[in-house]
Amino acid sequence: MKKIIYLDNNATTKVDERVVEKMLPYFSEEYGNPSSTYTFGGNVQHKIIEARETLKDFMGANRVGEIIFTSCGTESANTAIKGVLTANKTKKHIITTKVEHACVLTLYKNLETQFGYKVDYLDVNSDGSLDLTPLENMVTDQTALVSCMAANNETGVIFPYEKLAEIVKTKNPNTKVFVDAVQATGKIKLDVKNTQVDLMGISGHKLHAPKGIGALYIKSGTLLSPLLIGGHQEMGKRAGTENVPYIVGLAEAAKLANDNLGDEATRVKQLRDTLEAGILKSVYNARLNTNVSNRVPNTSNIGFEYIEGELILLHLSDLGICASSGSACTSGSLDASHVLKAMGVPFTCLHGSIRFSLSRFTTKEEIDYTLKVLPKVINKLNNISPFQKELNDLKKLKA
Ligand code: PLP
Repeated sequence: MKKIIYLDNNATTKVDERVVEKMLPYFSEEYGNPSSTYTFGGNVQHKIIEARETLKDFMGANRVGEIIFTSCGTESANTAIKGVLTANKTKKHIITTKVEHACVLTLYKNLETQFGYKVDYLDVNSDGSLDLTPLENMVTDQTALVSCMAANNETGVIFPYEKLAEIVKTKNPNTKVFVDAVQATGKIKLDVKNTQVDLMGISGHKLHAPKGIGALYIKSGTLLSPLLIGGHQEMGKRAGTENVPYIVGLAEAAKLANDNLGDEATRVKQLRDTLEAGILKSVYNARLNTNVSNRVPNTSNIGFEYIEGELILLHLSDLGICASSGSACTSGSLDASHVLKAMGVPFTCLHGSIRFSLSRFTTKEEIDYTLKVLPKVINKLNNISPFQKELNDLKKLKA
């Protein structure tokens, strides 16, 4: 197989071999049902308790009982949002941001059209940062829920969710706050107990655990109707026999991620910055869609003016480089990114924007190689762009 340079770690990540190793015994050796009364099941139950403790520490929760395991980030968000709204059916107002992931935005659209909820959307600034100015006036005594992401999946911009929760609770202490921390986990430290956030969701496959496992923090005392109804598992908040190997895997991935938050995050940030600086230097029609310092260290979103992002991706793919033109859940659609549109990114590079996202497995050699081949790809595409006059003008301007 051709060597792959994987720069799409916000879509998913490689499972760390140390994670796989920890998971393996729970497939065919320790395969008991954790709810069984005999020791063979009890041992497995014990492992889940241990994993819950690890996740409690990882997310900075107060109590182990505040963490439930889910199947993914989407399930965490759906459980949180539907769970609190169903538990409090009288309030029909929600506030969120224009740049949430599809798993949240599509759900809100559904709640608006099918169930009569009113949803208000916060704007982002042109650098992708969240504008909290109107929030205080938006919260009313009818506001059931406010939600925002901890870090944006397309730009990597970190949102002030602690401040958001503070504003919401000051105005209406009964309003619940949900944070989608899927893209922040493993990249920045989470410390939910020192915030006024009620619910926070994460997903394993963004931090080198497998696809198919996630977790949700539910602050003690939060009323929540379960999404999956059945057995008593996960303290009655998520029925279904526990996915033991994946729970063990998520806990190991969380431990490794915590170990990697210091020096490793700095190394990844340096590589990301080298990539950005190198592209901006060698490609005259490249523009950073955001350069705020308050970004997760692995993400860069770069627009290439007057050319098509999908074409760039195809050419990069031929060279073994994987990147993306939006979130994995919306790529394949010809619509421009809702995140870049909300930021007011000029139409000249709205369709030519590429997200590069690195990981602890990204090497300097891979970044050097990308910097060697990418300008040639862009040059080739510039030559066949229908916007020759505009490109020439831009070239002169940048010369
Ligand atoms: N939230 C954000 C910000 C994401 O980036 C994603 C996935 O890309 C999700 C939620 C959904 O997570 P999952 O793929 O685990 O359902």
